[in-house]
Amino acid sequence: MQTKIKIIPIILITLFLTGCGSTQNTVQAEEAQTATIFAMDTVMELSVYGSETLLDGAESIILALERELSVTDAESEIYAVNRDGAGSVSADTAELLNRALELCARTDGALDISIYPVVRTWGFTTGEYRVPDSEELRALLECVDYTRISFDGESALSLAEGMEIDLGSVAKGYASSRVIQYWKNNGVTSALLNLGGNVHALGTKPDGSAWRVAIADPEQNGYLGVLEVVDQAVITSGGYERYFEQDGKTYWHIIDPDTGCPAESGLISVTVVGSDGVLCDALSTSLFVMGLDGASALWNESDDFEAVFVTSDDAVYVTEGLADNFSPLGDYEGQEATVIYRA
Ligand code: AMP
Ligand code: MG
Repeated sequence: MQTKIKIIPIILITLFLTGCGSTQNTVQAEEAQTATIFAMDTVMELSVYGSETLLDGAESIILALERELSVTDAESEIYAVNRDGAGSVSADTAELLNRALELCARTDGALDISIYPVVRTWGFTTGEYRVPDSEELRALLECVDYTRISFDGESALSLAEGMEIDLGSVAKGYASSRVIQYWKNNGVTSALLNLGGNVHALGTKPDGSAWRVAIADPEQNGYLGVLEVVDQAVITSGGYERYFEQDGKTYWHIIDPDTGCPAESGLISVTVVGSDGVLCDALSTSLFVMGLDGASALWNESDDFEAVFVTSDDAVYVTEGLADNFSPLGDYEGQEATVIYRA
């Protein structure tokens, strides 16, 4: 169910003084239209410099995508395919599926959208958390293999026996890219979207300066640093976002498709920065699975993203392209982030 929480217009006032020491002045107002909605299981904040109808249009895009992509909504396309083992999907779902499958391959299966039976068994989509034993996991992993998803690239989708798919690792990145494109098509030059920690900036702030996007501290409330970005998505995956504890151990929602268990790669947070929301969302999840060495190797052979990594000993690493845009905050201010350079 989606709940619209509130709409708060923020007025930014620019003051122009006419003449030195003059008491006469002119006030020019530029208004950011903002809305907070609950969708895709998270709180979303939309902020756009332009008319209020741009918010309604954005909200419609997000809610329509949620209805198609949700893995738990019995009315969704993905739910129907998981239930029936086959079905036809709409153009949006097809586009996202094509992108997701390409990224499953690019990450050598660290991203695997057929992970759903495992995610559900751990209780991450139902909230009924439990730790499955190794035999149960082994049986579930028999059904996890994205290469056995059969898709014609346009609409006909069929899954191997027992297989179920989950686009939760990429849906918010897709939604943000779609909304940004819609706003661009309508002449917007300044906007910021925050889909539950998945941030996407359009252009610059109205004064022409870069957007400043804070990255959550994975260990506690607060922030580990701030990134200055223009026209880019900043998407973070972390064990702290969804987890449960049992017998003193923490189990989080990012699963290693090789083991069926929460990924223990030595990373506790991965932020991916780039212009393509789907790419950033897919990679934030899968680089978390791959660990610092594997993730750095993939970055080294790519030119379409940059990243910030935090390891379990609270060390921060940033890829070369972000070195000048990242400033540590709070507990991290005392330490220099290690820059990862191209080999
Ligand atoms: P994100 O918050 O974008 O990192 O996505 C995490 C969500 O993606 C989880 O809640 C699961 O629904 C799903 N997921 C977990 N592990 C994987 C994986 N290795 N590949 C694809 N999806 C995953
Ligand atoms: Mg993701």
